Amino acid sequence: MKYQVDENGFFGHYGGTYVPEILYNVVHELQEAYNPIIESEEFKTEYRQLLRDYVGRPSPLYHAKRMSEKYGCRLYLKREDLNHTGAHKINNTIGQILLARKMGKTRIIAETGAGQHGVATATVCALMGMHCEIFMGKTDVERQHINVERMKMLGAIVHPVTTGNMTLSDACSEAIRDWCCHPRDTFYLVGSTMGPHPYPDIVAKMQSVISEEIKMQLEEKIGRDYPDCLIACVGGGSNAAGTIYHYIDDERVKIVLAEAGGHGIGSDYTAATIHCGTEGIIHGARSLVMQTDDGQIKEAFTISAGLDYPGIGPMHADLAEKGREKVFAINDDEAIYAGYELTRMEGIVPAIESAHAIAALKKLSFNPEDVVVLTVSGRGDKDVETYLKNKAMAKEYANF
Ligand SMILES: *Cc1c(COP(=O)(O)O)cnc(C)c1O
Repeated sequence: MKYQVDENGFFGHYGGTYVPEILYNVVHELQEAYNPIIESEEFKTEYRQLLRDYVGRPSPLYHAKRMSEKYGCRLYLKREDLNHTGAHKINNTIGQILLARKMGKTRIIAETGAGQHGVATATVCALMGMHCEIFMGKTDVERQHINVERMKMLGAIVHPVTTGNMTLSDACSEAIRDWCCHPRDTFYLVGSTMGPHPYPDIVAKMQSVISEEIKMQLEEKIGRDYPDCLIACVGGGSNAAGTIYHYIDDERVKIVLAEAGGHGIGSDYTAATIHCGTEGIIHGARSLVMQTDDGQIKEAFTISAGLDYPGIGPMHADLAEKGREKVFAINDDEAIYAGYELTRMEGIVPAIESAHAIAALKKLSFNPEDVVVLTVSGRGDKDVETYLKNKAMAKEYANF
């Protein structure tokens, strides 16, 4: 693959390692250790085995016929919603817990917003018998009560974070602060393609199993291993990175991403960082950030807790800037509509994050022969209440 992070951890001019002095050694240790470990046969064997027998991979690539007819293309859905714990996040947590164990770390910390990454982390910690502490904004602790209970049931300690807006961004800051206090024994298990180098690279590599499988499954189904178009939603960027990973250099493949527009990119209530952000430092990396003129990080707003982040992984900041990715901002009402549409047309209730990707179909025009692969990053069980409460946004479905 030609497109790679450089030796200093940069994708173009985004990325790098902007960490406090006290973390320099521990981050450097990880930078030196991760590639040899994840490229070792021992790691690969165990990682593959767990993905197959514990997560349930490969996830199906499903030809969605009714939606294909509606949008005038051949639409395939990559079903990450069928994974254990209900989303793509487990691909990454399985990989990082094996890495942590190999590095001799005994205490795992993680940040979480909606609680999905917290649950995926608590799950692999239970699996490996490791100590687990999760940082979660107090607002999110209240909003996402069931996931908090799931984490506790799995044996994790959940710390409600009361700084700032008490949401995901504050939870990240608090996890970094904790890491500064316990750099020796603690492994920070980052949930998306964000954070200081090497995390964006680690997480992209762990999620790259998605595009590896797409290649094999397309070959089997249509006799060629690439689609005309890939679509994914983007919060920090991990399911999108996994979806595009093996196609980044392949110019035949168009890449379309959907970020959360919230009430709209012209309003103050948005999480569309690629549209509205400017260059800055967030959680250890140079990237696009939604910030005030004096560099304070702004709060992100969207109906989707999993996309509620005022930054974006450095790889996507770079690929979007270079024009390799076409990015749409999808507003709350468009996502709600798309979630109902997939539910009624294919019998699949998508996570509200994934519904943003589905809504991007409306913004594109296709030839009937075009093969489109869209990643359904997670299942919508957690969002049923949100869908019902906002049903009126899905105009033509609102009468049911
Ligand atoms: C967390 C989450 C996302 C957003 O995270 P990325 O790192 O951008 O993939 C998207 N979909 C689901 C279902 C999630 O849980």
